[in-house]
Amino acid sequence: MTMKLTKGVLVLAGLALLAGCEEEETEVIEPVNIRGYIQKTNIDKGFVEVYPDRQPAGTTVRFDISSKIPVYFVKNGGGEVPLPIKDGVSQMKGLLGGVFSEFTVIDDDISYFRDPAKPGNQNDWQQSSKLNQFYAKHGIEYGLVFAEGTAFWDPEMESDPEKMCANASSAPYNGGLSIEIDPNTGLFSTDHVAWVNLGNGQCEWDSDIVIHEMAHNLGLFNHFEPYYGKWSTAAEQVIRNLYSNPAGLTPENMLIVE
Ligand SMILES: [Zn+2]
Repeated sequence: MTMKLTKGVLVLAGLALLAGCEEEETEVIEPVNIRGYIQKTNIDKGFVEVYPDRQPAGTTVRFDISSKIPVYFVKNGGGEVPLPIKDGVSQMKGLLGGVFSEFTVIDDDISYFRDPAKPGNQNDWQQSSKLNQFYAKHGIEYGLVFAEGTAFWDPEMESDPEKMCANASSAPYNGGLSIEIDPNTGLFSTDHVAWVNLGNGQCEWDSDIVIHEMAHNLGLFNHFEPYYGKWSTAAEQVIRNLYSNPAGLTPENMLIVE
Protein backbone atom coordinates (compact mmCIF):
# COMPACT_ATOMS: atom_id res chain seq x y z
CA MET A 1 0.00 0.00 0.00
CA THR A 2 1.45 3.33 -1.04
CA MET A 3 0.07 6.69 -0.11
CA LYS A 4 1.50 9.88 -1.48
CA LEU A 5 0.50 13.06 0.22
CA THR A 6 2.50 15.53 -1.83
CA LYS A 7 1.34 16.11 -5.34
CA GLY A 8 4.05 16.14 -7.97
CA VAL A 9 6.70 14.30 -6.00
CA LEU A 10 8.10 11.36 -7.88
CA VAL A 11 9.07 8.87 -5.22
CA LEU A 12 12.29 7.45 -6.63
CA ALA A 13 13.14 5.76 -3.36
CA GLY A 14 9.97 3.75 -3.71
CA LEU A 15 11.22 2.28 -6.97
CA ALA A 16 14.20 0.70 -5.32
CA LEU A 17 12.07 -0.59 -2.47
CA LEU A 18 9.57 -2.25 -4.76
CA ALA A 19 12.12 -3.73 -7.14
CA GLY A 20 12.33 -6.99 -5.23
CA CYS A 21 8.58 -7.37 -4.65
CA GLU A 22 7.24 -8.66 -7.93
CA GLU A 23 4.21 -10.30 -6.41
CA GLU A 24 3.09 -7.27 -4.49
CA GLU A 25 -0.09 -5.66 -5.75
CA THR A 26 -0.14 -2.01 -4.90
CA GLU A 27 -3.29 0.03 -4.54
CA VAL A 28 -2.62 3.66 -5.27
CA ILE A 29 -4.26 6.51 -3.44
CA GLU A 30 -4.48 9.78 -5.34
CA PRO A 31 -2.69 11.93 -6.26
CA VAL A 32 -0.23 10.27 -8.60
CA ASN A 33 2.38 11.97 -10.71
CA ILE A 34 1.02 11.08 -14.14
CA ARG A 35 3.39 13.36 -16.09
CA GLY A 36 6.37 11.91 -14.23
CA TYR A 37 5.24 8.35 -14.92
CA ILE A 38 4.73 9.11 -18.61
CA GLN A 39 8.26 10.47 -18.77
CA LYS A 40 9.67 7.41 -17.04
CA THR A 41 7.64 4.75 -18.83
CA ASN A 42 7.25 6.09 -22.36
CA ILE A 43 10.11 8.55 -22.95
CA ASP A 44 13.09 7.51 -20.83
CA LYS A 45 15.29 4.85 -22.33
CA GLY A 46 14.65 1.30 -21.27
CA PHE A 47 14.46 -2.14 -22.84
CA VAL A 48 12.53 -0.87 -25.86
CA GLU A 49 14.44 0.53 -28.85
CA VAL A 50 12.58 3.39 -30.51
CA TYR A 51 13.74 4.53 -33.97
CA PRO A 52 14.53 7.26 -34.69
CA ASP A 53 15.60 8.23 -31.19
CA ARG A 54 13.45 11.00 -29.72
CA GLN A 55 16.20 12.66 -27.76
CA PRO A 56 16.45 15.51 -27.10
CA ALA A 57 12.81 16.07 -28.11
CA GLY A 58 11.52 13.99 -25.20
CA THR A 59 8.10 13.41 -26.70
CA THR A 60 5.56 10.61 -26.40
CA VAL A 61 5.08 7.73 -28.83
CA ARG A 62 2.16 5.32 -29.23
CA PHE A 63 -0.05 3.37 -31.61
CA ASP A 64 -2.31 5.28 -33.98
CA ILE A 65 -5.89 4.77 -32.84
CA SER A 66 -7.59 6.66 -35.66
CA SER A 67 -8.35 3.20 -37.02
CA LYS A 68 -8.68 -0.03 -35.05
CA ILE A 69 -5.55 -1.94 -34.07
CA PRO A 70 -5.83 -5.50 -35.41
CA VAL A 71 -5.51 -8.22 -32.75
CA TYR A 72 -4.59 -11.83 -33.47
CA PHE A 73 -4.45 -15.00 -31.41
CA VAL A 74 -2.22 -17.73 -32.79
CA LYS A 75 -2.40 -21.35 -31.70
CA ASN A 76 -1.74 -24.75 -33.21
CA GLY A 77 -5.22 -26.04 -34.06
CA GLY A 78 -6.84 -22.63 -33.66
CA GLY A 79 -9.87 -22.61 -31.35
CA GLU A 80 -11.22 -20.10 -28.86
CA VAL A 81 -9.26 -17.14 -27.56
CA PRO A 82 -8.48 -18.00 -23.90
CA LEU A 83 -10.63 -16.14 -21.38
CA PRO A 84 -7.77 -14.29 -19.62
CA ILE A 85 -6.69 -12.85 -22.99
CA LYS A 86 -10.25 -11.78 -23.81
CA ASP A 87 -10.57 -10.26 -20.32
CA GLY A 88 -7.29 -8.37 -20.61
CA VAL A 89 -8.23 -6.92 -23.99
CA SER A 90 -11.69 -5.91 -22.83
CA GLN A 91 -10.23 -4.25 -19.73
CA MET A 92 -7.94 -2.28 -22.03
CA LYS A 93 -10.91 -1.38 -24.23
CA GLY A 94 -12.62 -0.11 -21.10
CA LEU A 95 -9.72 2.29 -20.61
CA LEU A 96 -9.00 3.37 -24.19
CA GLY A 97 -12.31 2.87 -25.99
CA GLY A 98 -12.94 0.59 -28.93
CA VAL A 99 -9.41 0.81 -30.28
CA PHE A 100 -8.97 -2.90 -31.11
CA SER A 101 -10.52 -5.01 -33.84
CA GLU A 102 -12.27 -8.27 -33.04
CA PHE A 103 -9.82 -11.17 -32.64
CA THR A 104 -8.62 -13.05 -35.68
CA VAL A 105 -7.67 -16.60 -34.67
CA ILE A 106 -4.71 -18.03 -36.58
CA ASP A 107 -4.24 -21.77 -36.73
CA ASP A 108 -0.49 -22.30 -36.86
CA ASP A 109 2.17 -24.12 -34.88
CA ILE A 110 4.78 -21.49 -34.12
CA SER A 111 6.98 -23.70 -31.96
CA TYR A 112 9.44 -23.70 -34.88
CA PHE A 113 10.47 -20.21 -33.74
CA ARG A 114 11.93 -21.79 -30.61
CA ASP A 115 15.50 -23.00 -30.57
CA PRO A 116 15.49 -26.43 -28.87
CA ALA A 117 19.26 -26.22 -28.44
CA LYS A 118 18.98 -23.19 -26.13
CA PRO A 119 17.99 -23.58 -22.49
CA GLY A 120 14.60 -22.29 -21.34
CA ASN A 121 12.36 -20.75 -24.00
CA GLN A 122 14.32 -18.79 -26.59
CA ASN A 123 14.11 -17.93 -30.27
CA ASP A 124 16.51 -19.18 -32.91
CA TRP A 125 18.65 -17.18 -35.34
CA GLN A 126 16.34 -17.65 -38.31
CA GLN A 127 13.57 -15.67 -36.74
CA SER A 128 13.37 -12.64 -39.03
CA SER A 129 12.91 -14.70 -42.21
CA LYS A 130 10.48 -16.95 -40.35
CA LEU A 131 8.55 -13.91 -39.16
CA ASN A 132 8.31 -12.47 -42.65
CA GLN A 133 7.01 -15.78 -43.97
CA PHE A 134 4.56 -16.09 -41.08
CA TYR A 135 3.17 -12.58 -41.62
CA ALA A 136 2.89 -13.09 -45.40
CA LYS A 137 1.16 -16.44 -44.98
CA HIS A 138 -1.49 -15.00 -42.65
CA GLY A 139 -1.82 -11.50 -44.09
CA ILE A 140 -0.57 -9.80 -40.92
CA GLU A 141 0.69 -6.29 -41.61
CA TYR A 142 0.14 -4.44 -38.35
CA GLY A 143 -1.15 -4.91 -34.83
CA LEU A 144 -0.83 -7.17 -31.79
CA VAL A 145 -0.30 -10.93 -31.84
CA PHE A 146 -1.13 -12.94 -28.71
CA ALA A 147 0.40 -16.39 -28.24
CA GLU A 148 0.65 -18.98 -25.48
CA GLY A 149 3.87 -20.67 -24.42
CA THR A 150 6.08 -18.19 -26.29
CA ALA A 151 7.42 -16.07 -23.42
CA PHE A 152 11.14 -15.47 -23.58
CA TRP A 153 12.92 -17.24 -20.73
CA ASP A 154 16.69 -17.42 -20.48
CA PRO A 155 17.69 -19.47 -17.42
CA GLU A 156 21.10 -17.79 -17.45
CA MET A 157 19.36 -14.47 -16.77
CA GLU A 158 16.74 -15.82 -14.38
CA SER A 159 16.63 -19.37 -13.06
CA ASP A 160 12.97 -19.18 -11.92
CA PRO A 161 10.57 -19.63 -14.89
CA GLU A 162 7.79 -17.89 -12.90
CA LYS A 163 9.79 -14.65 -13.07
CA MET A 164 9.99 -14.67 -16.87
CA CYS A 165 6.46 -15.91 -17.49
CA ALA A 166 5.28 -13.36 -20.05
CA ASN A 167 6.69 -10.56 -22.13
CA ALA A 168 6.13 -7.97 -24.84
CA SER A 169 8.40 -8.26 -27.85
CA SER A 170 8.90 -8.15 -31.60
CA ALA A 171 8.72 -11.93 -32.04
CA PRO A 172 7.74 -15.14 -30.23
CA TYR A 173 10.36 -16.57 -27.81
CA ASN A 174 12.16 -13.24 -28.09
CA GLY A 175 13.04 -10.74 -25.38
CA GLY A 176 13.52 -7.61 -27.48
CA LEU A 177 11.07 -4.98 -28.66
CA SER A 178 11.97 -2.39 -31.27
CA ILE A 179 9.59 0.19 -32.65
CA GLU A 180 9.96 2.48 -35.62
CA ILE A 181 8.05 5.72 -35.27
CA ASP A 182 7.03 8.51 -37.59
CA PRO A 183 9.12 11.38 -36.19
CA ASN A 184 6.53 13.91 -37.36
CA THR A 185 3.64 12.37 -35.45
CA GLY A 186 5.16 10.14 -32.76
CA LEU A 187 2.98 7.28 -34.03
CA PHE A 188 4.25 3.73 -34.44
CA SER A 189 4.96 2.80 -38.04
CA THR A 190 2.05 1.42 -40.06
CA ASP A 191 3.81 -1.98 -40.34
CA HIS A 192 4.47 -2.39 -36.61
CA VAL A 193 3.60 -5.85 -35.30
CA ALA A 194 4.12 -6.56 -31.60
CA TRP A 195 3.78 -9.82 -29.68
CA VAL A 196 2.20 -10.54 -26.32
CA ASN A 197 3.92 -13.76 -25.22
CA LEU A 198 2.11 -15.58 -22.41
CA GLY A 199 3.62 -18.46 -20.49
CA ASN A 200 6.74 -20.55 -21.03
CA GLY A 201 5.34 -23.99 -20.23
CA GLN A 202 6.42 -23.75 -16.58
CA CYS A 203 4.43 -20.88 -15.10
CA GLU A 204 0.92 -19.50 -14.55
CA TRP A 205 -0.45 -16.28 -16.05
CA ASP A 206 -3.75 -14.43 -15.79
CA SER A 207 -5.65 -11.44 -17.20
CA ASP A 208 -3.60 -8.94 -15.16
CA ILE A 209 -0.45 -10.31 -16.80
CA VAL A 210 -2.17 -9.97 -20.18
CA ILE A 211 -3.01 -6.31 -19.59
CA HIS A 212 0.47 -5.63 -18.15
CA GLU A 213 2.19 -7.01 -21.27
CA MET A 214 -0.29 -5.32 -23.61
CA ALA A 215 0.49 -2.04 -21.87
CA HIS A 216 4.21 -2.52 -22.55
CA ASN A 217 3.41 -2.91 -26.25
CA LEU A 218 1.07 0.09 -26.20
CA GLY A 219 3.69 2.48 -24.80
CA LEU A 220 4.10 1.83 -21.08
CA PHE A 221 7.57 0.51 -21.81
CA ASN A 222 9.38 0.84 -18.49
CA HIS A 223 8.08 -0.21 -15.11
CA PHE A 224 7.35 2.54 -12.63
CA GLU A 225 6.31 2.35 -9.05
CA PRO A 226 3.49 1.46 -8.34
CA TYR A 227 2.96 -0.08 -11.79
CA TYR A 228 5.84 -2.39 -11.14
CA GLY A 229 4.25 -5.72 -10.32
CA LYS A 230 1.10 -6.60 -12.20
CA TRP A 231 -1.35 -3.77 -12.78
CA SER A 232 -2.68 -0.76 -10.87
CA THR A 233 -5.03 2.19 -10.99
CA ALA A 234 -1.99 4.42 -11.61
CA ALA A 235 -1.06 2.39 -14.67
CA GLU A 236 -4.64 2.79 -15.89
CA GLN A 237 -4.42 6.56 -15.49
CA VAL A 238 -1.10 6.72 -17.31
CA ILE A 239 -2.23 4.70 -20.32
CA ARG A 240 -5.55 6.58 -20.53
CA ASN A 241 -3.69 9.90 -20.65
CA LEU A 242 -1.13 8.61 -23.15
CA TYR A 243 -3.97 7.76 -25.54
CA SER A 244 -6.34 10.65 -24.82
CA ASN A 245 -3.57 13.07 -25.86
CA PRO A 246 -2.00 13.22 -29.32
CA ALA A 247 1.37 11.46 -29.64
CA GLY A 248 4.51 13.55 -30.02
CA LEU A 249 4.01 15.75 -26.93
CA THR A 250 6.25 16.43 -23.97
CA PRO A 251 4.56 15.47 -20.69
CA GLU A 252 4.37 19.19 -19.80
CA ASN A 253 2.28 19.82 -22.93
CA MET A 254 -0.20 17.03 -22.28
CA LEU A 255 -3.68 17.64 -20.95
CA ILE A 256 -3.80 15.37 -17.94
CA VAL A 257 -7.08 13.97 -16.67
CA GLU A 258 -6.79 12.20 -13.33
ZN1 LIG B 1 6.58 -5.74 -17.24
